[in-house]
Amino acid sequence: MEKIKMTTPLVEMDGDEMTRILWKMIKEELITPFVELKTEYYDLGLENRDRTNDQVTVESAEATKKYGVAVKCATITPNASRMEEYHLKEMWKSPNGTIRAVLDGTVFRAPIIVKGIEPYVRTWKKPITLARHAYGDVYKASEMVIPGPGKVELVYTATDGSTASETVHQFDGAGVVQGMHNLDCSIQSFARSCFQYALDTKQDLWFAAKDTISKKYDHHFKDEFEDIYEKEYKAKFEEAGLTYFYTLIDDAIARVIKSEGGFIWACKNYDGDVMSDMVATAFGSLAMMTSVLVSPQGYYEYEAAHGTVQRHYYQHLKGEETSTNPVATIFAWSGALRKRGELDRLPALSKFADLLEQASIETIEAGRMTKDLALITSLSDVAVLNSGAFIREIRARLETLL
Ligand code: NAP
Ligand code: MG
Repeated sequence: MEKIKMTTPLVEMDGDEMTRILWKMIKEELITPFVELKTEYYDLGLENRDRTNDQVTVESAEATKKYGVAVKCATITPNASRMEEYHLKEMWKSPNGTIRAVLDGTVFRAPIIVKGIEPYVRTWKKPITLARHAYGDVYKASEMVIPGPGKVELVYTATDGSTASETVHQFDGAGVVQGMHNLDCSIQSFARSCFQYALDTKQDLWFAAKDTISKKYDHHFKDEFEDIYEKEYKAKFEEAGLTYFYTLIDDAIARVIKSEGGFIWACKNYDGDVMSDMVATAFGSLAMMTSVLVSPQGYYEYEAAHGTVQRHYYQHLKGEETSTNPVATIFAWSGALRKRGELDRLPALSKFADLLEQASIETIEAGRMTKDLALITSLSDVAVLNSGAFIREIRARLETLL
């Protein structure tokens, strides 16, 4: 078979620990035998981030703006113990945070559905994609403990010196207070990323907040979404046969649980933090969650939702076989290749991405899987494979599909 050609490079962001090992195996077994792979390679492994004073992370994000599509391996976010382990010059910031700041994007997370890994919610048949706003609210709040009686006010001082104020509470005794904010530009880019991604993936979009109680703050979010929808996306949604609606967060929860899935659920920052863990857990496994960062300009960065699987890496270093699940990382590659295929009008490349996903799913559905899935599957007659053997099984299926 002739290898599938690419015209534009993918931005390839390599990473750390066990996922770095999987990364190489996936490329060697599942991509380069079939695709004439073009990538612009950035090594985001912690040693190289330290060597380049983290410039490599910024450069990889800038390259994503240039080419439009990136695929990223999981990376270590340094903490005190990593400082010692890697003798770091500085406690470098989270690469994902750095990349998100450059691309101004929203992260969409969706589970990979396979027969035999059943969601805890019986009605869920299709993935639920969760979009979490990643700026402000309680994550950038100011807080005070109020020691005793007195008045707390919100005061806005404009640049011309004029002021406006609002009483928060007239305290009769001790208590606590919190002030939080968000920015129109951030809410708007969140909204645009959500509408754009809904169109891309042909899914309805739900947005939920609590505007009946938060009549200015949450209402402002609701209005920004509504405004952008009416002006920029309504016609496109109607043409695609998609719906957008806003509902109260408590109503959304009830609807989500009773739904079949197959939509995007946009959440404010805190709601998204809580609900993404709920949705991921209820679908079965963190190792089966994909993640894509979508910028309002339409740049895409694909990755797995899990980390570098440190515990397995230390086993690997001791020479032990590990049964680390590569599926979410494979889907990061297939997602990026499919998007490249769409943008460059290379149907063979998009088709390859579909078949790679199909081969991965069919391998699990045939009862051949990694240990994490074997522990939770409803299939009987299961063979537990190590990462290498599992990837080779996927390759064998892929070859017959191609
Ligand atoms: P983790 O890598 O997600 O792993 C936590 C545990 O979940 C593992 O020990 C393993 O459980 C299970 N697991 C996760 N992915 C798996 C897979 N593909 N196959 C099988 N089991 C899997 O989280 P962590 O150990 O807390 O973090 C390790 C490093 O990852 C940290 O340095 C953190 O900064 C980084 N991190 C990076 C990203 C990112 O780049 N997007 C995200 C999160 C964390 P068992 O041990 O029970 O087998
Ligand atoms: Mg959380």
